[in-house]
Amino acid sequence: MRRVVSVWVVWSVLSPCVWAADDAAADLRALVEQSQAQVKVDPERSRKLAEQALQQLAARPDADLQVRAHLLLCDYHSERDRASAERHVAEARALVPQLKRRGLAAGLLGCEGTLHEGTGDNMRALALYEEEVVLAEQAQDDEMLADGLFNRGHLRGVRGEFASGLADLKRARAMFERLQMPFHTLTVENTIAILYNRMGDHVQARHYYESALKAQAAAGLQREQAVTQYNLGRSLENLREWDAAQEAFDRVLRLSRELSYPRGIAYALRGQAAVQNARRQPDAALALLDQASEVQKTLPDERLRAQIQLQRGIALRQLHRLQESAAALNDALKVFAGGESLAEQAATHGALSQTLAEMGDWRGAFEQQSHFKAANDQVLTRQLDERFATLKVEYDNAARDREMALLQQSQKVTEHALAQERLAGRLLSAVIVLAAILLVVLGVLLWRHRRTSAAMRGLAMTDELTGLPNRRAALTELEAQMARGEPDCALLLADIDLFKAINDNHGHLAGDQILRVVAEAVRAIGGDVAGRSACLARFGGEEFIAVLPKVPLDEALRAAERFRERVAALDVSRHTPGRRVTISIGVTRLVAGDTLSSLLRRADEALYAAKESGRNRVVSRLAPEPATGDDTTGDPTPSVLPA
Ligand code: GH3
Ligand code: MG
Ligand code: MG
Repeated sequence: MRRVVSVWVVWSVLSPCVWAADDAAADLRALVEQSQAQVKVDPERSRKLAEQALQQLAARPDADLQVRAHLLLCDYHSERDRASAERHVAEARALVPQLKRRGLAAGLLGCEGTLHEGTGDNMRALALYEEEVVLAEQAQDDEMLADGLFNRGHLRGVRGEFASGLADLKRARAMFERLQMPFHTLTVENTIAILYNRMGDHVQARHYYESALKAQAAAGLQREQAVTQYNLGRSLENLREWDAAQEAFDRVLRLSRELSYPRGIAYALRGQAAVQNARRQPDAALALLDQASEVQKTLPDERLRAQIQLQRGIALRQLHRLQESAAALNDALKVFAGGESLAEQAATHGALSQTLAEMGDWRGAFEQQSHFKAANDQVLTRQLDERFATLKVEYDNAARDREMALLQQSQKVTEHALAQERLAGRLLSAVIVLAAILLVVLGVLLWRHRRTSAAMRGLAMTDELTGLPNRRAALTELEAQMARGEPDCALLLADIDLFKAINDNHGHLAGDQILRVVAEAVRAIGGDVAGRSACLARFGGEEFIAVLPKVPLDEALRAAERFRERVAALDVSRHTPGRRVTISIGVTRLVAGDTLSSLLRRADEALYAAKESGRNRVVSRLAPEPATGDDTTGDPTPSVLPA
């Protein structure tokens, strides 16, 4: 008891601390989750929240939350400040061994991949994304897997592997949808649109972008709107709808400035410059490109730099600054070739071919034209192949989905059958249990019935006063012996002498006591014929009977005599002071042809003879034996044995 009290005291003292610790942990988790929720809505706020979380986590370390915060900051800085992003990757990497959620390590690979993609090292980036997908799959971390698939699908698309890229992106989209991450779902859909754009399906892409823009505007996703708006601008650029393209890039610039989103600003400026080039306004284009370059210098984005150089090369050619144009275009070409972005390579070869032609370098121009044609053909072939491949992947996916549906259906059927089987099993068990209970109940009832009937039979066959078998029992035994035709079956019929006088002089109760005492002497006859069964009964009133199977007459006579002596020797002074009890006994034996009444009559006659000849004696009477001519017939011979 004292122990219980002391535990309670310790708990009540400590519990506020425990609660406080729990609260603090929950607050930190909430902080990281808020930061994550803001990534696509308000990147600056997302960064501040993640930094705040990291500061607080320094005092209360939690590897999972710390890595999540680092990942958010890596994502933020990957577009702005490569060094900071790398610092967060390194800090997160140090925490990997302590992670409870192993999938977060996959997220780290994803962020590293993004950094490599930023430097134009797409091969390394792709390898890291592959690893990210495998690790997330192993860790069964759906959120990280969806992220990995998005990264890989996007880069595959950039490399012109549209079919596999689309397959990844569609898987990522389905997973983000399942995880109820609508902002991420939108980003993936946007990227799918970019792939359609790259596949040359600009009309389809434009349609996607316009519908995505509406959803993003409704959700307040400003940064995403800037990106989609820019991509829409690119589609319009490809469709040569210059006014619409100009409008799109203007909106990107406005939005990006509002968000202080430098990458968006740089891309918007490049887009505006492309429109100016198309309108043959190279000065305006160059001014925009200079601004774009200024912003780009702060960004780890080589591809953007190359795109700016491509437009610069075009503008410079229009200004007939051909050497500078060729230098810019060659610069761009190096990056595009390294990044394997074929469409941009083709465009740059085309532009360079024109510049070289204007320089009079016909050979160079021809060479570039050939490269342009080859790259362009490759783009077209790839677009065609990929469209077929996409169709095939989509068909395969649909077939797989159908197969899955069938499998699930058959699984459901099997489960149903199993459930039925289980139900049947349970019913069977219930039936078995019920049957067992029923059997036990029946058994108990049967046992009780048997016991009751045995008791009833006992009662029906027992004399109440003396406890000896009664007349019915004796007659049943006699009939059985007669049916068996037992040769040596003796019969003793005994009657207490002058019993009426006992009753009269000492009362009926005393008479009853005498009957009980004599009954004990009757029982002793059993001992005289030991080894053989004897039926010793009260035959009625003050008469007793002994049925002695397999007892020859002489032995029966000896037993009768001992019985008589035993009765005569009884001390009954307690019940009948001054008086002794005697008994007269008639003896006979069963012979062939006897009936129950002939046998009993003979015994009765012997008993009568005993009474007649003075009582307290044994008299036998035998059936006449036809062959020998027994002389006792009709003449009762008192046999008092032994003398
Ligand atoms: P005898 O020597 O000739 O047999 O004379 P007895 O008096 O024994 O013969 P009797 O048949 O005249 O008398 C039998 C008496 O036994 C009559 C009856 O009242 C008495 N009796 C019969 N059954 C019982 C019983 O259960 N208890 C008592 N106390 N008396 C009984
Ligand atoms: Mg009598
Ligand atoms: Mg009598």
